[in-house]
Amino acid sequence: MNKKTIRDIDVHGKRALVRVDFNVPMDKATHRILDDTRIRAALPTIAYLREHGASVVLMSHLGRPDGKVVDDLRLAPIAARLAELLAVPVPCATDVAGPSAHAVVAAMKPGGVAMLENVRFERGEERDDPELAKQLAAFGDVYVNDAFGTAHRAHASTAGVAAYLPAVAGLLMEKEIDYLGRVVSDPVRPVVAIIGGAKISTKIGVLRHLLSKVDVLLVGGGMASTLLKAQGVDVGASLVEDGQLDDARAVVAEAASRGVGLALPQDAVVAERFAADAQPRTVGIDAVPPGWMILDVGPETVRAYEAKLAPAKTVVWNGPLGVAEWPAFAQGSVAVARFLAASPATVIIGGGETVALVTELGLAPKYAHVSTGGGASLEFLEGRTLPGVAALLDREPGR
Ligand code: ADP
Ligand code: MG
Repeated sequence: MNKKTIRDIDVHGKRALVRVDFNVPMDKATHRILDDTRIRAALPTIAYLREHGASVVLMSHLGRPDGKVVDDLRLAPIAARLAELLAVPVPCATDVAGPSAHAVVAAMKPGGVAMLENVRFERGEERDDPELAKQLAAFGDVYVNDAFGTAHRAHASTAGVAAYLPAVAGLLMEKEIDYLGRVVSDPVRPVVAIIGGAKISTKIGVLRHLLSKVDVLLVGGGMASTLLKAQGVDVGASLVEDGQLDDARAVVAEAASRGVGLALPQDAVVAERFAADAQPRTVGIDAVPPGWMILDVGPETVRAYEAKLAPAKTVVWNGPLGVAEWPAFAQGSVAVARFLAASPATVIIGGGETVALVTELGLAPKYAHVSTGGGASLEFLEGRTLPGVAALLDREPGR
């Protein structure tokens, strides 16, 4: 990564103002944290800073309070969970930059950890208001961005604050950029991308960018239906975005002209209704019955995709190959998840639903990297600059 990290600066005796992404799923009624993966993912950075004599002021958002105080979206339960994980107290302010925040930060000792209130309670956060950024900057001597999942947003706590403090990446941010970077810059070949998910419109940019990077592109999920229809296949009542047919044709043409092996499903698991209990039937791709819809890739497609994945040295997977939430239509995604778990390739998994699937299967530890940032990983794979990364200090060349 061409950005400085916490390892490149002296943090001893300093207050590190750290943006984390603790936007975890919570049970609305009980305020119980349903999955603390994102909290655990920030532990290496917090531990490093404390071990090197810094105190740590954490900021995060939770949900979409839209610039207002929403009691259900307070961070106290998250601070409590973090305190358990760190086995130290983590006092949590009841405001973002007001008297409570000042008191909590002022009471901190070296090695201490404290948390500000949900930054999106402040209207200035999502507007990247320089006033709010300045107020936040007053809580630190250095700024650390470890919130990869929010790095595609230019907000006060993710980008604006970097104008007022020396700004570096945390260890999670570094790991995310390092692994996703292995796909788009000088990858170890052959590199294969598997792109699935619901809508082609949300991933057309990724498809296009990856065409210039990968050797093989395997497509599944709802988005494959638009590509199939663009190729003249009758996909029945499948999810098709007719407005994307031209772009889909352009992707096919570009793959051909670049010599990228673009693979589409050869068979499918279809159903008459979009429902978990719909009766599944496996058909060849040119035999989708009228009025039926494609809800998963079929076994022949899985075999063909596995054959293309076998020689890969680098694999990136974003988006399930079928409606993986429903067991009857999860088989393609599950088979590929298992195949990749046993693959010697560097496998990088991104995308909210894809990550949820491999986590549920207990396979997450088997891959080189499972991204914590859905939207951010997509924008990165589209080749876009992430504002939260761009705002950080550049590493000096040659070091
Ligand atoms: P990710 O979050 O991993 O990036 P997406 O958000 O793009 O993935 O898409 C995930 C959704 O795509 C899942 O909810 C899944 O049900 C849906 N999906 C996958 N295949 C199909 C299909 N054939 N038809 C309709 N929806 C599909
Ligand atoms: Mg998703």
